[in-house]
Amino acid sequence: MTEENHLADRARKAEKIIARPTDFKVCEGCDSIVAARVATCPNCHGYRFDESPQAVTAQARLLGSRAQTSVVEEDLF
Ligand SMILES: [Zn+2]
Repeated sequence: MTEENHLADRARKAEKIIARPTDFKVCEGCDSIVAARVATCPNCHGYRFDESPQAVTAQARLLGSRAQTSVVEEDLF
């Protein structure tokens, strides 16, 4: 997969998250977007999350424009 496609894929995921921010939350340990139902972050095992739709939306926008932000794929959809 080219870098360009990778970014497009992230942008598509970000759009889905922005459409349903209450289904997700942001890990305060590593800034990953995770499914709202998880108890601990699958990425860093943190257990502190920001569940506000505003935080999720802001993080998803970053995700769409920045390659470093991670999403834990298996928990998303
Ligand atoms: Zn984390």
